[in-house]
Amino acid sequence: MNRRTLLSMAAAAAAISPREAAAQERAARATRAMPSPKIKDVQVIQTAPAGLRLPVVKILTDQDGLYGYGCACYTQRADLVVPAVERYIRPLLIGKPADRIDDTWQMLYNSSYWRNGPVLNNAISGVDEALWDIKGRMAGMPVYQLLGGKCREAVDCYAHSSGADFPQVMESAKGYMAKGYRHIRIQVGVPGMAGYGAGRSDVKVQALHSAPVFEPEAYLSRALKLFEIARKELGDEVELLHDIHERVSPVQAMRFCKDVEKYRPFFIEDPVSPEDITWFRHIRAQCTTPLAMGELFNSPHEWVPLIHERLIDYIRIHVSQAGGVTPCRKVAAMAELMGVKTAWHGPGDVSPVGHAANIALDLACYNFGIQEGRVFTEREQEVFHGCPKTENGYFYANEAPGWGIEVDEKAAAKYPFGSFEQGERKRLNGGWGEVRRRDGTIIKQ
Ligand code: MG
Repeated sequence: MNRRTLLSMAAAAAAISPREAAAQERAARATRAMPSPKIKDVQVIQTAPAGLRLPVVKILTDQDGLYGYGCACYTQRADLVVPAVERYIRPLLIGKPADRIDDTWQMLYNSSYWRNGPVLNNAISGVDEALWDIKGRMAGMPVYQLLGGKCREAVDCYAHSSGADFPQVMESAKGYMAKGYRHIRIQVGVPGMAGYGAGRSDVKVQALHSAPVFEPEAYLSRALKLFEIARKELGDEVELLHDIHERVSPVQAMRFCKDVEKYRPFFIEDPVSPEDITWFRHIRAQCTTPLAMGELFNSPHEWVPLIHERLIDYIRIHVSQAGGVTPCRKVAAMAELMGVKTAWHGPGDVSPVGHAANIALDLACYNFGIQEGRVFTEREQEVFHGCPKTENGYFYANEAPGWGIEVDEKAAAKYPFGSFEQGERKRLNGGWGEVRRRDGTIIKQ
């Protein structure tokens, strides 16, 4: 059978003209013949434009102008991610194809033998997301198109409303609602204590040490009161979220989830720590409060049982902490089958590249739940050109190919790690300090 006959048959089968069939065949042949771009260099951009250390991996290829960026942000140990990439991952990657994303991920994940730790997972994520960026640039498409295209027009976000006292939180929440936000995370301080995600007052509590103090019961009663006030002042329609941040005992968390149920929270986040995940079975049996969990997760051993047994409602992984977009799109697919929704971690210690990756997953995954929102500072936008935009409480993807983000490396160099850090944070190289109960017992952060 000659080529003309074959083309006629192909055209008839596809209901297109023989000329179009010939053009398609030429394009397919050209694609097959196109050599894979090879990885020429792997670099880490170290920048802190908003004060938080943001390691971002840049992969350069042997094709002129073809490169990509990936988020490797483990801000509490950011300095350690840099040698993990430069000394261990870079030598594995030089000369390898830049278009084999899952294969590269599996190679890096297994090459350290001991795996699922936060430093190496973030280093792998930097590479993984840079390869997705490169593939999007090769295709001329934003990454969400490579993942299947949009399931929704934009990404519903939640804003953070916090304060040292109730009126401050309410004022902040009303401000966000006036800007169009429909979801608000509310956190209030406890006088004299180091409450998570909330302002501190000048009151001093008596303690047997000089570290910041936190007492679980004082926090729990303030948090419950906050929900009561919020429902009265903000109405029934707004969705209210809250993060316990694993700071109380499992049985205290169970009681809080039961008590707060009547205020219909959108979700309660991290009621227990990753070490206590078997307690979710008990919490689930006691109340219908929606549960979010996972920003501290590193390993499939942590999220698989919670999703499989339908013990949580929202999976809240820090995408780079799990190793990037490649593992997280699989997590999302598994979660969809079990009726669990996504709520990727998205505070200031995720780079704009990481936020763009979150948004790509948010747009393309049917089981999107909510996205932690962020409005980027002027300095962040000076370094990361093309940051995703927020309007009326929605995040919008940048429609340029890949993540749509270009890093201005000269601007990035103006804000090295340590910029704007002071006191204890500077001494700890951007790490967190300690929080203790009155008697000196360490509290989980
Ligand atoms: Mg959290």
